[in-house]
Amino acid sequence: MRAFQKPAQKPAIGYWNPKTETMPREQLQMLQLRKLQAMVRWAYDNSKLWQRKFDQVGLEPQDIRSLDDIQLIPFLTKEEFLNAQTSSPPFGDTLAAPSELAVCYHQTSGTSSRVPLRALDGRKDWEWQSEMWAYGLYAFGVRPKDICYLPFSYNVFIGFWGVHYGAEKIGAMVIPGGSQSSESRLKQLVELGATVVATTPTYAFRLAQYAEDLGIHLAHDSKVKMLILTSEPGANIPSTKRMLEEVWGARVGDFVGMTEAGTIVAYECSEQCGAAHIVEDHYYEEVIDPKTLKPLGYGQKGERVMTSFGRGMMPVLRFRTGDLVEKVEAGYCSCGRTFDLYKGGVLGRTDDMKLIRGTNVYPSAVENIVREYKEIGEFQIVLTREGYSDEITVQIEPRSDVPEERLDFLSLDVASDLAEAHEGLRFNVVIAERGTLPKFEVTSVRLQDLRI
Ligand SMILES: [Zn+2]
Repeated sequence: MRAFQKPAQKPAIGYWNPKTETMPREQLQMLQLRKLQAMVRWAYDNSKLWQRKFDQVGLEPQDIRSLDDIQLIPFLTKEEFLNAQTSSPPFGDTLAAPSELAVCYHQTSGTSSRVPLRALDGRKDWEWQSEMWAYGLYAFGVRPKDICYLPFSYNVFIGFWGVHYGAEKIGAMVIPGGSQSSESRLKQLVELGATVVATTPTYAFRLAQYAEDLGIHLAHDSKVKMLILTSEPGANIPSTKRMLEEVWGARVGDFVGMTEAGTIVAYECSEQCGAAHIVEDHYYEEVIDPKTLKPLGYGQKGERVMTSFGRGMMPVLRFRTGDLVEKVEAGYCSCGRTFDLYKGGVLGRTDDMKLIRGTNVYPSAVENIVREYKEIGEFQIVLTREGYSDEITVQIEPRSDVPEERLDFLSLDVASDLAEAHEGLRFNVVIAERGTLPKFEVTSVRLQDLRI
């Protein structure tokens, strides 16, 4: 064991845009109203999609007189957005400016829906998207002296493009670690002294595993002190976060992004209070009951609805994200920002929740418990139906150094912790043969619902 260990120190509090990030709430809301009115006017005058939606309910831009009036605007769903594009490819009537003004094209991976969602951005949009990342990166502690390593495949997927330009905007050095093996990425990030790595939680784990195989001890051998994680849950799940922080010897930050915005909407600041600040001078975020569609207040869990003030070429108003969140007031964090937060980041998807024999089960809650056990490598959740009863099985794959005699106790311990956190619900915890569970590279799918 080497004596030197990187100190995982908390940096001093810093604001990318001190004026708006600490703006008194009343003033911030006035700014939001002004930006909302401008975006509504722009969308109505220039996008056929929005003109159609406003006309359907008899709404005109001048009807938006207060922030509460946003509720007059019809919701936009992902399906509606996709249909608008597929009915007249490639962009349908979703654009609010001629496509020749665009400077960038991106799309979603298309795995969760039949077809990818396509996005065009003009110069101003693209500039805005990196600005959003600059808010988040700076708040977490990235500074001009940092070296940011981005191990992602630079392609049409929006992925980490925003981090690239956001970090560059701050003045940090950016190393594009695309198109090479994990092994050479690891060697490169160690050799070049990267201090920041931006990736998905799944790939952060995979890199750590590869490093172990190569005899690289990331916490000692690398200079990485910050992991910027986004695209899937992980950095917001306390035990997963702790495990990653330990193996990398770095602070792990959770960043809430989405393709429909083309960038991030919320970020974790250097205080790491367990919640993510919403970039409220650039978004108006609502939380609604996904069934009744009524607005919910602070401390109530519901669906996140996004309105962006920044994406002009493809305006997004009241977009139903399907993300499950709980909003808390700015004072929840001690950093001095006046931006409200999402406690625990994105808690899951509203359609993620599984009802097992009358008990609600979220895959992220199961992950939080499983990751408490360092002896477990991979895991899978499988739902089955036996007669009239639903069964939940968690398959766990122990790490290679776990002794045989520990295995029975390990599954009993995990089952007991899972039951305790789920009103006594019985979980079948089984040991999977080493090397049999799927290993994920970029994002993970660890739940199989075989009940249908
Ligand atoms: Zn904060």
